[in-house]
Amino acid sequence: MRIIEPSFTILDELDQQSLPVRIEYCGRICYKSEHRIDSDSAIPFVRKMAQHGHNSVLEMGVVTLVVTCSTPDAINNLFFCQPRFLQIDFLDTHRLLVTGSIRAFREMLLFHPTNAIFRAITLFLAKRHPYFFETLLADTGEAPPPGVTVDKMGLKEVEQLDAPQCAKHRYLAVKFIVNRAVTHELVRHRPCTFLQESQRYCRYSDDKFGNEVTFIKPLFFDEQSAEFTIWKKAMEDMEQQYFRLLETSTAQAARTVLPNSCKTEIIVYANLLEWQHILELRTSKAAEPSMREVMIPLQQELQKRYPRLSL
Ligand SMILES: Cc1cc2nc3c(=O)[nH]c(=O)nc-3n(C[C@H](O)[C@H](O)[C@H](O)COP(=O)(O)OP(=O)(O)OC[C@H]3O[C@@H](n4cnc5c(N)ncnc54)[C@H](O)[C@@H]3O)c2cc1C
Repeated sequence: MRIIEPSFTILDELDQQSLPVRIEYCGRICYKSEHRIDSDSAIPFVRKMAQHGHNSVLEMGVVTLVVTCSTPDAINNLFFCQPRFLQIDFLDTHRLLVTGSIRAFREMLLFHPTNAIFRAITLFLAKRHPYFFETLLADTGEAPPPGVTVDKMGLKEVEQLDAPQCAKHRYLAVKFIVNRAVTHELVRHRPCTFLQESQRYCRYSDDKFGNEVTFIKPLFFDEQSAEFTIWKKAMEDMEQQYFRLLETSTAQAARTVLPNSCKTEIIVYANLLEWQHILELRTSKAAEPSMREVMIPLQQELQKRYPRLSL
């Protein structure tokens, strides 16, 4: 068995990558198959996700668009659709700022195929990334609806928006390496997108996991204490039982003995407004100490990066 400290990484270098590259990186955390990433693997990976309807993986790529409409009708029709998973603001009476994930845009078109704005957005995105929309659009070269134009807003521009708009439209992914109790709490934050290492697919007796189970060191017990010795012995015993079950059972069956202390990796993707909410709840004195252990340093880091926002 291995014991490690919890940690987090702000995945802002992923923001510089193409949508398929970032989606593949995030998607592979579930299977811990990052070793299969190469310079040609991203597009086949995301195409498969779109074909097989692994939609939550497609939430890991977000784009911000400026949609210009020549008449108010198109804008009214957009709001009649009640888009729940898009961030929308008016730039002026004719121009909307729209931020959403590939999944959100795909599903808006699926449920509202004649809506001019969703059609224009999908065609705009499909020109650049056809593999996300092949199953939805018969002809990605179709002429866009008249009176609606779509342009992309780059990340630098998003960061220069006024503070409330920047908080809504700037999405940020953070990868946490924490125990399963912490991830159970993280996934309660509904506006986020999550992808997490799967104990159903990961078989910790395999070479790629070092043939051992990894645990997160509990901050509650000093390493020299009797309590730490009890905890460590419990983990050793559990690992042995898990390996015994794996001799005859699948990983998903054997994992039923794995405890909260197991290390797990999770990517949490949300806009800065939601991060503000998460940090407020999860750094407070009422929050679970193992959660505060990662959230307090994350908050300090984000405050440095976004001093205009009250993170
Ligand atoms: C100290 C602490 C103790 C806790 N103890 C428990 C416990 O004992 N048992 C337990 O079950 N949970 C517990 N929780 C979890 C808690 O109940 C929330 O589920 C979790 O913190 C998510 O926060 P949230 O609901 O404020 O917002 P999020 O899910 O992060 O959503 C962000 C915002 O989106 C909006 N929103 C999202 N979904 C909806 C919706 N369906 N309807 C309306 N508005 C919505 C709200 O404005 C919300 O503030 C605890 C959390 C903390 C921080």
